[in-house]
Amino acid sequence: MNYIPTIGLETHAELLTASKMFCACPVVDVTTAPPNSAVCPICAGMPGTLPVINRRAVEYALRVALALECEIYPTSIFARKNYFYPDLPKGYQISQYEEPLARHGKLTIRTREGEKLIRIRRVHLEEDTGKSVHVEGGASVQVAIGQVGEAGNSLTNQPTNHSTDQPLPQSHSLIDLNRSGVPLLEIVTEPDLHSPEEVSAFARALRDILVYVGVNSGDLQKGVLRVEPNISVRPVGTETLGTRTEVKNLNSFRALERAVEYEINRQISLLEAGGTVVQETVGWDEARQLTFSQRSKEEAHDYRYFPEPDLPPLVLEESFIATVRASLPELPYPRFRRFITQYGLSEYDADVLTTERATADYYEQTLAAAPDVSPKTIANWITGDVFATLNEGGKTLADMPPARLGGLLRLVGSGSINQTTAKRVLAEMFASGHSAEDIVNAQGLGQISDSEFISGLVQEILTANPDQVESFRAGKETVFNWLFGQIMRRAGGKANPQVVQTLLREKLTGNS
Ligand code: ADP
Ligand code: ZN
Ligand code: MG
Repeated sequence: MNYIPTIGLETHAELLTASKMFCACPVVDVTTAPPNSAVCPICAGMPGTLPVINRRAVEYALRVALALECEIYPTSIFARKNYFYPDLPKGYQISQYEEPLARHGKLTIRTREGEKLIRIRRVHLEEDTGKSVHVEGGASVQVAIGQVGEAGNSLTNQPTNHSTDQPLPQSHSLIDLNRSGVPLLEIVTEPDLHSPEEVSAFARALRDILVYVGVNSGDLQKGVLRVEPNISVRPVGTETLGTRTEVKNLNSFRALERAVEYEINRQISLLEAGGTVVQETVGWDEARQLTFSQRSKEEAHDYRYFPEPDLPPLVLEESFIATVRASLPELPYPRFRRFITQYGLSEYDADVLTTERATADYYEQTLAAAPDVSPKTIANWITGDVFATLNEGGKTLADMPPARLGGLLRLVGSGSINQTTAKRVLAEMFASGHSAEDIVNAQGLGQISDSEFISGLVQEILTANPDQVESFRAGKETVFNWLFGQIMRRAGGKANPQVVQTLLREKLTGNS
């Protein structure tokens, strides 16, 4: 039997605000900051504390909701989502539930099959939890103790002075509350995706948008962007969606794609063998490249949602929404389309140049710096030699300002230097930071187009190689390139190749 896979994605994106969702604690990099160094009574869940909504987080959430073309709700409500887990100090997470910030958005994805609109079901604000670190065996670990109780001081980010290096029990868990209360945006799609390729295309497109609008670093490895696919399969010809499983712990696009593929195949095999899929949460085992059961539907929490009594409804004024809308940059997809129509670029080039905003800006700044050079030529230089240099490591786009690259390309465009020389000059520009003009002048690299001079060179080479001239005239066309190479070498690579070609052919065919 044939099956149709269906996938919906729940994405959690930490927002790059300076402070947390409901308190003044700084948002720190939890992979590097000392554990529990950015914690106060509010995000540590102390009794009697009161949350205050972070205005910047609301603005960032709105940026994303608008970029995803959602309907924005002028009033949204925070709720308590109750459950117990050691990394959740309050015993509930503040999240938007029945009345989220935004609904009914859409995002265009591109796959080999073409373009497709994926519907966004909802976008809502919440707070992140802390982090449990599970330690196996009796390692002796430096533990911060008493820090939460001292949370008042911890804003200063000082290392704790209460620490112990006593051996800990064989197996134990450590809690780091730095992440507790970090603003989190949840973005949920409709079940509109049907293959691992589509899932990956969506996740990448969403990541690009989050980074474009400046609210997230897009770093899956650091856990600041977490994509959880819900996957089901149903026999071709049926309408009702099959029972779904949800995959956690995916920290790369590759893992996401693999896990979706694995789950689809696992569910199909199960059904083919007469079994049934049970609704459950599964984890992805990166080492073994397979999923394992984490929690079944029966163990699912009843979250007992109710409106957060300590927070008023979030009311967005029309003028605030308008200001945020006006501040949005051109987004990756429209920019991609514009690069194709306005600059005549291939889909491939337009894609490479618009995936990151900085690259797209760089391209357009270089265009402005070299208005007489064709947009296609500039795209080729950037995606070719410039990227190749960056890929070698040690250099960034900042080492080659657009005006400086534009200067080089203007020299190529005006025929002052040829392609081969330009590549050399580019390498020297990266190395020395000098302008193309200075390098060309200092090293006398200017291209020679003077036909009288070139004519002399051509004659010299022809005279020195009578046998080759003979065989060309006898019909061996490939000798032309060899002779051309000899002349270029004689000219130290500086001769204008077009002029050399023309004069060489004229002399060989006696057509002068
Ligand atoms: P949750 O209880 O996890 O909040 P939702 O019903 O809100 O569940 O759905 C979460 C995600 O799962 C959404 O992206 C939705 O599109 C997707 N989804 C729901 N049902 C299915 C299904 N049968 N197969 C695949 N994806 C599904
Ligand atoms: Zn705090
Ligand atoms: Mg879910």
